[in-house]
Amino acid sequence: MSEKERIELAEILFPNIKHDRAYYENMYPERSLTEGAMVTRFGPSPTGFVHMGSLFGAFCDYIFAKQSNGIFYLRIEDTDQKRSIENGVEGIYKDLEAFQITPDESEIVAGDYKPYIQSRRTEIYQTYVKDLIVQGLAYPCFMKEEEIAAVREEQENNKMKIGIYGLYAVDRDLTLNEIKEKLENKEEHVIRLKSPGNSKNQIEIIDCIKGKMKLPENDMDIVLLKKDGTPTYHFAHVIDDHLMHTTHVIRGDEWVSSLPIHIQLFKILGFDMPKYAHTAPITKKENGNIRKLSKRKDPEAKVSYYEEVGIPIEAVKLYLATILNSNFEEWYLNNNDKTIGDFTFTFDKMAVGGTLFDLDKLNNICKTYFSRKSGQEIYDETLKYTEKFDLEYNKLLKENKEDMIKFLSIEKDGERPRKDIAKYSDVKEEFSYAIDSLFEEENYSKNDSDKTYDINLIIDYVKNYLDLNVSNEEWFNKIKEFATNNGYASTPKEYKKDPDNFNGHVGDICEAIRVMITGRTKSPDLFSIMKILGKDRIIKRINLYQNKIS
Ligand code: GLU
Repeated sequence: MSEKERIELAEILFPNIKHDRAYYENMYPERSLTEGAMVTRFGPSPTGFVHMGSLFGAFCDYIFAKQSNGIFYLRIEDTDQKRSIENGVEGIYKDLEAFQITPDESEIVAGDYKPYIQSRRTEIYQTYVKDLIVQGLAYPCFMKEEEIAAVREEQENNKMKIGIYGLYAVDRDLTLNEIKEKLENKEEHVIRLKSPGNSKNQIEIIDCIKGKMKLPENDMDIVLLKKDGTPTYHFAHVIDDHLMHTTHVIRGDEWVSSLPIHIQLFKILGFDMPKYAHTAPITKKENGNIRKLSKRKDPEAKVSYYEEVGIPIEAVKLYLATILNSNFEEWYLNNNDKTIGDFTFTFDKMAVGGTLFDLDKLNNICKTYFSRKSGQEIYDETLKYTEKFDLEYNKLLKENKEDMIKFLSIEKDGERPRKDIAKYSDVKEEFSYAIDSLFEEENYSKNDSDKTYDINLIIDYVKNYLDLNVSNEEWFNKIKEFATNNGYASTPKEYKKDPDNFNGHVGDICEAIRVMITGRTKSPDLFSIMKILGKDRIIKRINLYQNKIS
């Protein structure tokens, strides 16, 4: 086809496209950002909710943009109607907001590169395709579904690469008249790329995460515009990332195989390439096998799961940060007063293979997170959580506010703060002894000790010796004295040396008190608990225990 014919064809195919490329290039000028600033984007399809894999992607985008004083924007990629659901976009905004992964630009915030919804950019895509037609780099393809299926079958039988390329691209060289005829006959068509590539050639690309990659050059005449005139992902993202001036495309590595297509598109369109960073999938270990985290099978793949079980969003983000950079966790554990914003993330510390999503690890991170919160903060946040998910406990928390804060504040100071809570819903369990009615109701159900204790000895101790107005040290010295006076060793070591000579050691007395007043063998500092409870409640609980075992 001559150039004149190609111009005619472009007009026939796109009579309503009046602007040219320059129009859009002027409309979306370069961003004025400082050197090194990254422009990243999160490009979800509106499938309703964000799952952990894509949240991780958005988190990466956000982190890299923010730490380089760049821009993180949200672009809704809704060109595939099959994957879009009604109100799907709202779900995305909501989930991002919940995680405070706030875009600088999106359809509903600000931004000079609007629209940020692909379905509203059709005219832009068509303008560029029109130009490719003129250049002889794209063509209308009228192949019917049955024909494409037959090609596929033949390729499968001959163990060939599947797709429309080379000799299979039968409409590549249609004449203008042939095309006109087909159009007159109302034959449906897509617009395909006329790929200038040869798959025998290798192209080289440096991926920010995976490093140097060698891939075969693209020779597929992929679809640029579908029958309804809307673009494919391949084409739309290239145009958008160019016009929106994305510097780093961070996306899942399932896209690596189509990277040669994208590189070719950037090249033939005459655009500068952004840098690509392909992230490893988030995986899960199940019965010794590793598989991708699944939206269907794994509740933790849904971001709403965390709110429901009471895992703070900040803690989930800390966990995402540990998956993002392999050196984050150690840094976080060693820096008590620091958090995500203080760390510098780099691509070279990102996983190249799969990233294991490990709930135990998440649990540990959560415990560290809570250990750094004050009793008051944990109280306030648990109150909010229970307002939504446990109204009954919420009422009890309000009624016992003062005590609750005191209990939650035990062992918070010092080098190694307590690490017992991993989620808001743990507070009720872990601190069941903090609220009388709850404690009585539970009736020592958490006591994992099968020992029998000398109740009279403990009653005698509490009534006649326990002084709650002393320091922790004084209290301990006194209980040691009480132990010795009653035939107990003052240290476990002393007891072990000569067990027959003692009834037990001071630790056994403490354990007895602990079991009687908290219903469990392990608890935060015993004396602190006793101080908050006060003598009367301690005695009441010992009596309760006595009734329970008699
Ligand atoms: N819309 C694509 C998806 O949902 C995004 C891929 C990309 O970030 O480029 O998978």
